[in-house]
Amino acid sequence: MKNVLGLRCVECSKEVSPEAGTYTCPSCGSKGGIMDVVYDYQEINRLTTRKQVTNSRDYSMFRYLSFLPIYPESARPHLRVGWSPLYKPQGLGKSLGMSNLYIKDDGQNPTSSLKDRASIIAVIKAVEEKAPTVACSSTGNAASSLAGNAAAMGLKSVIFVPSRAPQGKIAQLMIFGATVISVQGSYEDTFRLSAEAIEHFGWYNRNAAINPYLVEGKKTVALEIAEQLNWDVPDWVILSVGDGCTIAGVWKGFRDLYLAGWIDRLPKIAGVQSTGCSPLVDAFLEDRPWRPKEENTIADSIAVGVPRNPDKALNAVRESGGTMVAVTDEAILEAMRQLGRTSGIFGEPAGVTGTAGLKALVEKGVIGADEKVVSIVTGNGLKDVLNAIKAVGEPLKVEPSLQELLMKMEVVE
Ligand SMILES: *Cc1c(COP(=O)(O)O)cnc(C)c1O
Ligand SMILES: [Zn+2]
Repeated sequence: MKNVLGLRCVECSKEVSPEAGTYTCPSCGSKGGIMDVVYDYQEINRLTTRKQVTNSRDYSMFRYLSFLPIYPESARPHLRVGWSPLYKPQGLGKSLGMSNLYIKDDGQNPTSSLKDRASIIAVIKAVEEKAPTVACSSTGNAASSLAGNAAAMGLKSVIFVPSRAPQGKIAQLMIFGATVISVQGSYEDTFRLSAEAIEHFGWYNRNAAINPYLVEGKKTVALEIAEQLNWDVPDWVILSVGDGCTIAGVWKGFRDLYLAGWIDRLPKIAGVQSTGCSPLVDAFLEDRPWRPKEENTIADSIAVGVPRNPDKALNAVRESGGTMVAVTDEAILEAMRQLGRTSGIFGEPAGVTGTAGLKALVEKGVIGADEKVVSIVTGNGLKDVLNAIKAVGEPLKVEPSLQELLMKMEVVE
């Protein structure tokens, strides 16, 4: 990895060389000490140019190989992760009163969430480190994504999920052949048990807050947004926040591009949580350290009462001059309807929470109607069909009779 200088501790700034098995800061110990990957931007520019990337026919996140902490010759799964579409849906723009709104639909990854960007790095690293088994705890998507990418790579996966995980995600896990441990408790309980088991069995750890390489995979969503906008950076990027790894990754992506000289300014980053579980939004708005909260929202992917990457997440928002906002579950269901009906885009609750937050921030006048905004849809709606039905209701039921159909249609119209 000629492009990687080392790993730097987010807490104490200590730098270490990126050796196999080093995830957290040796000085800070296991409590804190989350690491960041530090790049040699000159080397990145020696390896590749913006023009070369723009002409690349690798329609996946690996078009940005020179920005990633993997060996170019490392084995990679065959799955196409990344290069998801960036749409400018006119209907949605109109319904929100915005003239420059883009949706990055990351529900279109192989396992239907943005998590694939991190999981594919996890399995590449696991094989680099000769680990036969990968493991993680997850609210659902990191799990199904790791299981899918592990299957593609010929690795075993062991997955810890809280008992509330939706059926669609459990089905994915079983289909991808994972060993699934359904923990009868909260996500916090699930995370703790997985950490103990990973240590005990020596599995490769895909927990995104602890493993510094995973945020690097997630950052490719930002590189794609920049490139898809012709390297003309948006004013705002808005997305949902759970543990905080995704928003940290988005900010890292734009910063890396900026430091490499590929873009000439940085966007503001806005993070959105549900009012039913908003530890990071509360900390940001009240300008105080975060405190644990209950996990009481339909947006299961961001129902994270004890976030694992709070500092990186809050740094991303603050350094960018961005903001945070919490929205109700009702507003999340409304965003599901709005995206579906105006644009043909189907997101799971946490997938559309960013769009719900955008609506709130536009109404408050924080985001202007003419500003260039990218809202990231982080997961596909088919993962959680029960909540989708909750958002839109049941279909019209009729006997197989035209007469009855005509009667019922009249009622509808
Ligand atoms: C994981 C996830 C998020 C939040 O990512 P964090 O890194 O936990 O903040 C948002 N939306 C979906 C669909 C997710 O799966
Ligand atoms: Zn440290």
